[in-house]
Amino acid sequence: MKLIRTVDEMHRAQHLPAFSPARGFVPTMGYLHEGHLALIRTARRHADEVVVSIFVNPTQFGAGEDLERYPRDENHDLDLCRAEGVDIVFAPPIEEMYPDPCEVTIQEARWSRELCGRSRSGHFAGVLTVVAKLLNIVQPGVAVFGQKDAQQFLVIRKMVQALNFPICLMVAPTVREPDGLAMSSRNTYLDAPLRQDALALYLALRDAQTALAEGMRNGLELQARLRAGFAARCPCGQLHYLELRDPRTFRAVQKVDAPTLFAIAAQLQSVRLIDNMVLDEQGRERSLQDVC
Ligand code: AMP
Repeated sequence: MKLIRTVDEMHRAQHLPAFSPARGFVPTMGYLHEGHLALIRTARRHADEVVVSIFVNPTQFGAGEDLERYPRDENHDLDLCRAEGVDIVFAPPIEEMYPDPCEVTIQEARWSRELCGRSRSGHFAGVLTVVAKLLNIVQPGVAVFGQKDAQQFLVIRKMVQALNFPICLMVAPTVREPDGLAMSSRNTYLDAPLRQDALALYLALRDAQTALAEGMRNGLELQARLRAGFAARCPCGQLHYLELRDPRTFRAVQKVDAPTLFAIAAQLQSVRLIDNMVLDEQGRERSLQDVC
């Protein structure tokens, strides 16, 4: 496995044509867990060569967010990548990605202002800018993202289409802990009581499944029921949003009569967590990859 730190070296490491379908790419911020490994395995199934990037991107963190304390353990990440048969890890220092102040950015004007964008202004511009840079540096034919960050995936896909990147995007299902909590590098911030409270996000999504299976379809009624469940289980948590969206148009869903993205975000003390499920009108879980 090659460890590459510079853009030049990454470009020189290309023995496949630019944007070859044989090169798969998984961008990450490191502190890898089973969720990331599932993306790597998906990339491996669809491509001959797998490149993983590890870069904690400062431009997607807002003032007062957790950039400084974001967990990092590069040696462990490299061991995991090696064990997965990753071919190249691209792990640049900040100066390599941003040698100058970041004055050129990529903005998406609509979807990125909603859901997570409401409390994290500038977040998606940071994500889109770094992902566009990484796609041009790595030049993959296939890039794999996690459904865990559904809004991020949808906004990235919009950028890839709008800017004509010749890349096939894939989205892999959310990997969860045995009790249902979505795996996240940020889970490391949770002490035992907070870890218990954090389950309220997943349980709200399970409530959605139950309510739909019982025949509830009205968006406002569903929201009210899920909010009440969340508040009862996690009285100290601050719900940032709990929304029903059409995964193709990102429009708010008034009545669930097609696969719908149920997305939730909450602040638990200093930890912000997100989760989502795509559910059909019967409450059956569908994959974002299949419905958008
Ligand atoms: P991150 O390192 O958190 O920026 O995430 C890198 C990629 O891994 C993104 O595409 C995430 O959506 C994905 N990812 C993070 N957590 C999970 C999870 N629990 N299951 C599946 N994919 C995940």
